[in-house]
Parts: sequence; C-alpha cells; structure tokens
Amino acid sequence: MALNPLTQAEQEAILKAFGGGKTGFKQGANRSFETDRLSREKAGNSPTSVILSVEDVKGQYDASRALMTTLGGMTRKIDAPELEAFRRNIETVRKAYKSGIKADQVLNLSLDDDLIRARKEIHTGIPTRFQGNTLHFMTNAGPDSDVKQHYVTIKFLDLIAIATTPIPLLTATKQVAQGYLAFDCDCRRHRYWYRYISTIGGFNAGRAETGFPKIRNPHLSGVACKHVLRVMTALSQALAISKIKEMVKIVRQSVQPLENLPEQQLSAKEVKDAAKQQLARAHHERNQVRRAIDDPVKQRRAKKEAERLAKATQANIQRQREERKRIITSGSPIERLNLRLDLENRVKNLQREYSISANDSLLDAIENLQNDISRL
Ligand SMILES: [Zn+2]
Repeated sequence: MALNPLTQAEQEAILKAFGGGKTGFKQGANRSFETDRLSREKAGNSPTSVILSVEDVKGQYDASRALMTTLGGMTRKIDAPELEAFRRNIETVRKAYKSGIKADQVLNLSLDDDLIRARKEIHTGIPTRFQGNTLHFMTNAGPDSDVKQHYVTIKFLDLIAIATTPIPLLTATKQVAQGYLAFDCDCRRHRYWYRYISTIGGFNAGRAETGFPKIRNPHLSGVACKHVLRVMTALSQALAISKIKEMVKIVRQSVQPLENLPEQQLSAKEVKDAAKQQLARAHHERNQVRRAIDDPVKQRRAKKEAERLAKATQANIQRQREERKRIITSGSPIERLNLRLDLENRVKNLQREYSISANDSLLDAIENLQNDISRL
C-alpha cells in the first residue's frame, strides 16, 4: 500500500502531543493512570454497580440485577447460559496465552479494526523513560480523541533471565525485545475491551481489571488497542532497541532487585526530535504497523530460519545413516541389539501407517529397513 507523506499541518498537530517536557511526560502518565484507577474504584464501590465481578461469573450472580450482555451479537439479560459462555471464553483465553505473549503475537492477534486504525492514525511510538524491566512510551492520540497523547507501558518479563545469560549484548537486547512481555495503555479501548483479557491472560502491566467486559467484548476477542500496536512495531526499531540495550546493561552491571534500579529519562528534546523523525518517515513502508505474517522483513527472517532448520535436520539424518552403517558393519552386540529393536519398531509404525494411507512410498521405506534388519 503506497502511503502519502503527512502534511506539515498534520505533523505539527501531532507534535503537540510531545510538548509536555520531561517532567510533563511522567506526570501526564501518572495523572492519567491515577484518574482511571479512582474512577474504577468508584464504579466498583457504587451500590448500583454494573460491573460483573469474579464472584458473579463464578455463579453467584443475582439475576434480579438484570445486567445486560451483547453476547452472540444481541443484547440480552445475563442468566445461567450467558455465565456459562463467559466462563468458556475465559478458559479459552487462559489456554491461548498460557506461555505468555510476545510483540509479534500481539500484532498477529490484533483485530483488523485496531490494525487499520494504528496504521492510519498512530504515527509515533516514542520511549520516554525506563526503570528496571519497564519501558514507558508515548504515542499520539487519534484525530477524534479528546486528549493529545496516550501512555503505553511495556514490561519485559524475561529481562533478568536474558540479561544475566552470558551472550553478546546485542543478542540479549534482541531477545528481550522479541521476548515475553506485558503491556498497558491509558486509552478507553484498552480499558473497556482489552484490560480484562490482559489481566486473565497474565500480560497486564498496569492495574488489574477483574470486571468481565459483558457489553463491549463478551467474546474476549482481540488483544491490543491501536496505541499498543504502534508500540509493538516500535519495539523492533532503532530508538527502542537502544533503550532496551541500556536496560540490559544496567541489569548486567547491578546486583540490585529490579525495583531498586534507577529510573532513566529521555530529555524533552530527544523525545521531540524522535517524534519529528517518525512523522517525517511515517509513510515509509518499513514503518507501517502490520502483522508479522504480512511483514516482508520478518518473512525473510522466518524463511532463513526454516532453511537453517532444514539443513540441520538434513545433517542429522545423514549422521543417523552413517551411525547405522557403522553399527551394522562393526557395532558391539548391544548396539546391534538396540538398533534391531529400534528398526523393528519403525517397521511396525510404517506398516500401521500404510494400512491407513496405502501410500506406496512407505513400502520402499519398509523394505529398506527390513534389509538393514536382516544384516544385523
Ligand atoms: Zn490504547
């Protein structure tokens, strides 16, 4: 998709998001997350609360509260079958994210809607400060937003494990950037659609959300807002990589627990210059937010890895053949016995496979194995 450069006016409007200065970046983020926390607390404590709690979903829901859901595309009252469906959806999310989530997966699992908005509207994802395993970003807000910027928090969950492994600094940095992470955003999309999923999925980097999104996202689909998607793309780019490298270095040089490590901030000028640069290059193909499967660079990388693996497998097969030959001609009695048992097992498996598939090429393989067995 050929994109047009942003106009001067568009660039200037977006740059206003980064005018807060170094202290402003941090205060802005803290203020936004604090406002969210207070309003959630108030909503939860209200006697007429419409939040569907963990206890409700578990089955203690009082049907006289008559709360609604949009499950199945229709607005309906919540009752036993809806609760059962909620529980199934929760179980699915838990299983899907059992081993954690990485930047590439966040992009791959995004909904089209979020991805398209990220591409069209969010042209900046700038790191502003970091501490321990947490890297804070700012992005511009979409054109219809009532704020200028959004604050995205990323936690690199394997930072200590990777940083303390004796591998080159750049290798460790890339492993951290492409490794398991948790995230949070201060926008409404994240708040009402995705924070619950990131909480139960175990990749939430902000306040936990225990209220089931019964109206906005009862199917628990998607995973990240357009701001988070922009930041996931930024994680593989030079500026974020340089900050992650510093984070790795700090962990390598320190004996302190993560929470005691010093906070580092980018200067207001550094942030603004980075924003200017990203805006000027917003139309470049390689700066587009996209799923890893649609990314030519990542496709090339995956192809290379597949080739390397195929080569290694090939070498392995070759080694196995040579080893088999050696045992047949000059192996010890116990080696010969073990090889015979192994080959007989393989023949049995292939025969079973042949009885199902009637694939003639299996007959050749069976004959080869039987020839080898007869020489043992
Ligand atoms: Zn967001």
